[in-house]
Amino acid sequence: MSRTTVATIHLGALRHNLARIKAMAAPAKVMAVVKADAYGHGLERVARALDAEAECFAVAALGDGLRLRAAGHRQRIVVLSGPDQPGDIAEMQRLGLDAAIHHEAQLTWLAEASARRGRLRAWLKVDSGMHRLGFAPERVPEVHARLVAMPGVDPGIGLLTHFAESEVFDGEVTRAQIARFNEVIRGLDGPRSLSNSAAVLGWPEARADWVRTGGLLYGLSVVDGKSGADFGFRPAMTLSTRLIAINRIGKGERIGYNGTWICPEDMPVGVAAIGYGDGYPRSAASGTPVLVGDARVPLIGRVSMDLVTLDLRTAPQAKVGDRVTLWGEGLPAEAVAPHACTISYDLTCGMTRRVLFVED
Ligand code: PLP
Repeated sequence: MSRTTVATIHLGALRHNLARIKAMAAPAKVMAVVKADAYGHGLERVARALDAEAECFAVAALGDGLRLRAAGHRQRIVVLSGPDQPGDIAEMQRLGLDAAIHHEAQLTWLAEASARRGRLRAWLKVDSGMHRLGFAPERVPEVHARLVAMPGVDPGIGLLTHFAESEVFDGEVTRAQIARFNEVIRGLDGPRSLSNSAAVLGWPEARADWVRTGGLLYGLSVVDGKSGADFGFRPAMTLSTRLIAINRIGKGERIGYNGTWICPEDMPVGVAAIGYGDGYPRSAASGTPVLVGDARVPLIGRVSMDLVTLDLRTAPQAKVGDRVTLWGEGLPAEAVAPHACTISYDLTCGMTRRVLFVED
């Protein structure tokens, strides 16, 4: 299957997208978020493509920072979930990684960090309302003072928070988070970072010193009803395969496992070589759009491990061997994701090892 199922990573799109984010966010600087294997696009590949232009990368965990340093990247790297265990601190100092500090346990480990290994750059994570990671607002001044006093920590402590629904432009939740964050950090020095991709688009007042963008870098959007292209971004991944069969199936016949789709008439049914074994979502329902050549057709029936079935009534010219695009150029992942009850990020993150990655 890996011969036919291909994720093409568009390096030019990645560069275009980073340049566009920089232009939109300026004078704020940009952390290029490359966690989760760069949202499924390949960490080393994406970092290599952006190396000359990216001032800073952000990753979820130390291991990704290690991979970036091993690949020779010298820019700032922020570990968004910070150290996970005491031994991580020395490793982060050695690698020169920035740590997000969000929990009391990390303060204990940090207090023991020796300045001889180099001073760790820390970002104090404030829980402004998402209630995932971060210190409660009332604890921030005390935690900040403790960090400043630590010999193994650079005193220029950064201040960070994360939004729960910045894709709701003009929404009360984000407005309250911004107000709470600004209130909490009043009087504290150090670089500030609030915005993810959607906030860069919809909340200019939250750009502060650094924005942290993942989705837009890959041309993806979580704004309801909008694709990355609607904001001038280009998809960085096109997932494609081939049509390997076209069968005429009679009226009333059931298609695929459990016969969840019944032919309303005698019709051509296409079979494409991709399934949930490649990371195409099994939850994609009948009606999910797919491109056969340039024609948009609906997926019908259940997604199998290796195959999907397609209604070819509106693509009578289709033939075995035709290229089938699941998302990317010509078909935004945002047009697909709702049919699988998910978001576009989840789609690109889901590719399995049997998908062949190529670059253009
Ligand atoms: N900052 C943090 C702390 C995150 O967890 C994420 C991703 O979930 C981002 C920034 C980037 O978000 P987005 O991909 O929407 O730009």
